[in-house]
Amino acid sequence: MDLRDVLPRAEFDVEAALEKVRPICEDVRHRGVAALIEITERFDGVRLETTRVPQERIDAALVGLDPKVRAALEESIRRARLVHREQRRTDHTTQVVPGGTVSERWVPVDRVGLYVPGGLAVYPSSVVMNVVPAQEAGVEGIAVTSPPQKAFGGSVHPTILAACALLGVTEVYAAGGAQAIAMFAYGTEECRPVNLVTGPGNIYVAAAKRLLKGRIGIDAEAGPTEIAVLADDSASAREVAADLISQAEHDPMAASVLVTDSVALAEAVELELKEQVARTKHRERVTTALGGKQSGIVLVDDVEQGLAVVNAYAAEHLEIQTRDARAVAARVRNAGAIFIGPFAPVSLGDYAAGSNHVLPTGGCACHSSGLSVQSFLRGIHVVDYSREALAGVAAHVVNLADAEDLPGHGDAILARFDWTVPGQ
Ligand code: NAD
Repeated sequence: MDLRDVLPRAEFDVEAALEKVRPICEDVRHRGVAALIEITERFDGVRLETTRVPQERIDAALVGLDPKVRAALEESIRRARLVHREQRRTDHTTQVVPGGTVSERWVPVDRVGLYVPGGLAVYPSSVVMNVVPAQEAGVEGIAVTSPPQKAFGGSVHPTILAACALLGVTEVYAAGGAQAIAMFAYGTEECRPVNLVTGPGNIYVAAAKRLLKGRIGIDAEAGPTEIAVLADDSASAREVAADLISQAEHDPMAASVLVTDSVALAEAVELELKEQVARTKHRERVTTALGGKQSGIVLVDDVEQGLAVVNAYAAEHLEIQTRDARAVAARVRNAGAIFIGPFAPVSLGDYAAGSNHVLPTGGCACHSSGLSVQSFLRGIHVVDYSREALAGVAAHVVNLADAEDLPGHGDAILARFDWTVPGQ
């Protein structure tokens, strides 16, 4: 049995959304800003004059930022920089033979478009999580986009603008959904096209990323957020319930899954959830998310079986709340990020652990990583061989080219040696 078939998971049918976003993307491609203004009016209820947010508005947002939020953002940026700076790869050169080297040069993409969601909630923290790795990678052109907010005069949320200002980002657009991804991919009169788009978003954002992949690079098609908690009877039901609610709060489609070998803990968490959900602010979407088929409690025989379950599930966020949590965590192979023990809740990682919160969802953690400096770099092989070094391997190249019936490849070697195989 494939465990993935029986585990709870949200249906996130990007394929179905493709048909919806295709005309949106085509419209932006052909009509640029005029299309963006019309589509934004339709989906965001805002009539834009221009998509580019003026610098005065960004500066004013920083001036008006609550000092407590400013201090928190600054600390979040500082910690993220500490971690992401360490991810930088160094160029290296391998001498394959005397006179023959292959170097690997890590080069940042020229220009990125960073998507910061702003539908159900606004995410200044996502500005930090996208911008810091791009900057640490050395990307020169950084543009940020986020949906315009009716409540803020049709502009991007001021806390998002203030976060951009703190990070020194000056190119910000008021556009959300598929239309924002199309703006980045095709460019408009106001926004030059980008090479790469990163950042989480809803199903329309994911569908547009899938549709336009190739024209632009993408990080991943991040779906609704997920938390899995692997816990035994040493875990606190109160804390586990609070953590499950914290992710359910993002989205009615968010997934909160508890995997435990303790019936007592499962029952206690259910009781706690009832109490805590009743007093949480976003009760409605939390209730929908927790009641959805993507959420639930999975009872296992022991932590060993629990490990098999969480490895099959490959959660975006995985908490280990067991005895010997570090040792258990070391055996996890598939997760976007792992949070060890009672004092590393997912909320910490969402804002200020130093780790990145843009992580693979929907089981993609079995093949993909979260956003990092690496996401913004390309490794370029640089091949440098002398005549002698080429002569030393020429016969092998010619023989392999013949085996593939591509004699032109062999001839390109032989042309350098008067049409004879050197050394024969
Ligand atoms: P969003 O910014 O992704 O989407 C809002 C946009 O969707 C709007 O601007 C609107 O133009 C467009 N839209 C709305 N209805 C539409 C329709 N019917 N057709 C076409 N376009 C439409 O914001 P959101 O909706 O709140 O979604 C954010 C998602 O990002 C959530 O699922 C959240 O869990 C996720 N998220 C993930 C991470 C992560 O790191 N993985 C971090 C933050 C948020």
